[in-house]
Amino acid sequence: MKIGVVGAAGRMGRMNIAAVLATECVELAGAVARSGSDAVGTDAGLLAGTSACGVPVTDDAVALFAEADVVIDFTVPEATRAFAELAAQGKTAHVIGTTGLSAEDHAALDMAARHTPLMIGANMSMGVNLLAALSQRVAAILDEDFDIEIVEMHHRHKIDAPSGTALLLGQSAADGRGVNLDDRADRGRDGHTGERRPGNIGFASLRGGDVVGDHTVIFAGPGERVELGHKSSDRRIFARGAIKAARWLVGRKPGIYGMADVLGLRDL
Ligand code: NAD
Repeated sequence: MKIGVVGAAGRMGRMNIAAVLATECVELAGAVARSGSDAVGTDAGLLAGTSACGVPVTDDAVALFAEADVVIDFTVPEATRAFAELAAQGKTAHVIGTTGLSAEDHAALDMAARHTPLMIGANMSMGVNLLAALSQRVAAILDEDFDIEIVEMHHRHKIDAPSGTALLLGQSAADGRGVNLDDRADRGRDGHTGERRPGNIGFASLRGGDVVGDHTVIFAGPGERVELGHKSSDRRIFARGAIKAARWLVGRKPGIYGMADVLGLRDL
């Protein structure tokens, strides 16, 4: 199986290259960085902090999507939309870890998914996806007397809030309650907010240091509180999940898939 990596120079891009090179029975089809990046022309293995692998980093995404069976993409929403179009043209499977995707971005990905399989995962770790499945179950069991609040903390370089994972957890809780997250989300409280609206799902974001990703889903009821949490300490969990998703996705029917499909968590 030939796996390509876009966003090669990024924090996750480098992890993804290293993970492909460390995985048996898969081959690095190529690595693409943004045009003008210093990484273009360097050896992908060296860029990823491992040994030279003989695959140079290029800025030719068209060639990569034509060559690879599947491409792993942790970049920015604008780039991900363009890559999904290339995936549709080449009928290449596309694993998307990019967060901060808007409704318009999702609509563009839906179009691409008519032609090729796409896996969209705001968090590729086993633990977080298990947390999402558990949050859905708990939200279904506890009624609206239990207020749901989602707290996340990430490193100081993160550019979007709440984190894609926090939104994924919010979606799971909303699914458990049978409500629409867009109608219930309370994001960024400040000033005189008034009392909490029953049934809303609150989000709070902390930023600082080099925190890889902490998430807590709180169910706060009268006289008691249930808290489900997850802490990531190593980004390699996301890269390992992305490789697992890539291997699972190749050969699937066109459509949108999630990590719950890859990990078999739909029936939890
Ligand atoms: P980063 O800024 O280090 O890397 C992003 C890279 O994408 C940069 O190198 C940038 O040059 C590159 N890029 C942008 N446009 C490009 C283009 N057109 N062609 C090629 N490369 C392009 O960020 P990061 O920490 O690696 O995170 C990237 C994304 O992945 C973010 O959205 C982040 O939230 C998300 N993320 C997801 C998971 C997950 O499990 N799904 C885990 C960690 C991070």
